[in-house]
Amino acid sequence: MNRSFRLATLFNIPVEINYSWFIILGLVIFTLARGYFPLTNPELPEAAHWLLAAAAALLLFASLLAHEFSHALVAVRHDLPIHGITLFVFGGVAHMEKEPSAPGIEFKMAAAGPAMSFLLACLFFALTQISYGLGLPNALLSLLNYLFLINLAVGLFNLIPGYPLDGGRLLRAALWHFLKNLKRATRIASFFGKAFAFALIAYGLLHLLAGSLVAGLWFIFIGLFLQEAAGTSYQQIVLRRALSGVPVGKVMTRSVVTVPAGLTLDRLVDDYFFRFRYTSFPVVEDDALRGLVTLHAVKQVEKKDWPRLTAGEIMLPLDEKLTIGADHDVIDALARMGAAGMSRLLVTDGGKLAGILTQRDITRLFELKSKIDEE
Ligand SMILES: [Zn+2]
Repeated sequence: MNRSFRLATLFNIPVEINYSWFIILGLVIFTLARGYFPLTNPELPEAAHWLLAAAAALLLFASLLAHEFSHALVAVRHDLPIHGITLFVFGGVAHMEKEPSAPGIEFKMAAAGPAMSFLLACLFFALTQISYGLGLPNALLSLLNYLFLINLAVGLFNLIPGYPLDGGRLLRAALWHFLKNLKRATRIASFFGKAFAFALIAYGLLHLLAGSLVAGLWFIFIGLFLQEAAGTSYQQIVLRRALSGVPVGKVMTRSVVTVPAGLTLDRLVDDYFFRFRYTSFPVVEDDALRGLVTLHAVKQVEKKDWPRLTAGEIMLPLDEKLTIGADHDVIDALARMGAAGMSRLLVTDGGKLAGILTQRDITRLFELKSKIDEE
């Protein structure tokens, strides 16, 4: 699910687009150019239908962005930092660092998106009426009318009470409020999300059997997406609950095997990689941390060059992606590992190596904690 690229930064929030969105974009343009516009504007040539379809798809895209931003801006106002927004299939996901601290905040955040979609629907409805009154071209009317309908549909679709859709979040907030248990509320809301996803897939299959390919694919695609999202969101919340507030320094391994920067690669392989069987080692020089040498980097060098090159020459230099302060949250460490594609981080304390944190350290802690927390 990480296949996204950065589009722009708005209100200090990076906007990313998941590649899955292009499949949807293609489907939207195709459906509009071959279905909707030929029906509403049969007098226009085919090229005009494709142009109108592209314009409609772009405006739909802007509408979805407005929907996501209204979630994000409510979150930011409640001190919930947003890392970025990723646009997926039917909307997007705002990446929050923390979960909302109270059901009321979650409720407001979840409601903001559909509220924006309904507002846009009203706006496009009004514009359609005005254009009609002014006698503007038919093509414009069809375009505005489509945007009215699609924003209405996006608002309604997102209100379906299956987590992680907005409606599911509203449900979760309500359950959280009454049950006073976020984990259980999430579990129930995710169950509804999965049930709804299966219903969509089944409905899509029925369409396929009945011979309508595009509609069938639509429903199946959205269903599959929702099903995965419902599962991962639940795991995320459990993980977050268990690990938030735990500092890195408490979990890290303190006794770290380090490698001197001047060590040649043949010795590095024999004396370190084979002996300790780790996939990377911190590199030190005169007591100071310099970088990280990985097995992957060693493998990039031809064997005959091993006696000539040193660990210091092929190491990854120290940067933010490789290190984390001992006082940081384990959750932050996990996010950093994910972003950098690393399974271990060097823990620093005042510029010096204090320890090393591996994904396995975190998994172990998580397993222990979830055993203790079990309801
Ligand atoms: Zn939403």
